[in-house]
Amino acid sequence: MVGEPPDLDGRLADAVERLGDAARAMLRRSAAADGLSPTQAQLLLRITSGSAPREGTGALAGWLEVSAPTVSDALRTLAVKGMVERGQPPEPRVWTATPRGLETARQLRHWRGPLLGALRRQATERKAEALASILQVIAELNVDGHISTARNCLTCRFFRGEQAGEGWCTLLDTALSPATLRVDCPEHRAAAPTC
Ligand code: SF4
Repeated sequence: MVGEPPDLDGRLADAVERLGDAARAMLRRSAAADGLSPTQAQLLLRITSGSAPREGTGALAGWLEVSAPTVSDALRTLAVKGMVERGQPPEPRVWTATPRGLETARQLRHWRGPLLGALRRQATERKAEALASILQVIAELNVDGHISTARNCLTCRFFRGEQAGEGWCTLLDTALSPATLRVDCPEHRAAAPTC
């Protein structure tokens, strides 16, 4: 049996880092075109994401893995620019986008165009396998305390099955193959610790 090629994990980590660099650079360029900092752009995209839960400053900071004051500053600037506003009772802590914010977010999302184009050229089977593997790594980093937010199926109390095989969502009563695992699910509930 052939063993694992030397330093496969290290090269994979390098590749993930490189992809992250590329994604950040593309988002930074897109944000600059709209007069926003990368953090402001990320927050606006999060707040206007259809799959994200309605969140206050603390939860947004957890998702971005930055401090609450950093998020507060960025939200204040977005509010001054007329792109976000505080929610109305009973959700006064939740941030929502204004029509101007929604339009800016629509333009910002174009940063993903080159990435999606490159992904479209990859085989579906390999993409499904890559998705499941990346979500499993995110789940393990979350369990080990390196990242605070991981709202994917593999960290969810409603998920039954194996990461690499067919799974099932007991909440939505639906099958989940590696290709259909959710990355950021609004119905996600953290699984109970295993020990
Ligand atoms: S609730 Fe969402 S995250 Fe949880 S298993 Fe179902 S689809 Fe996945």
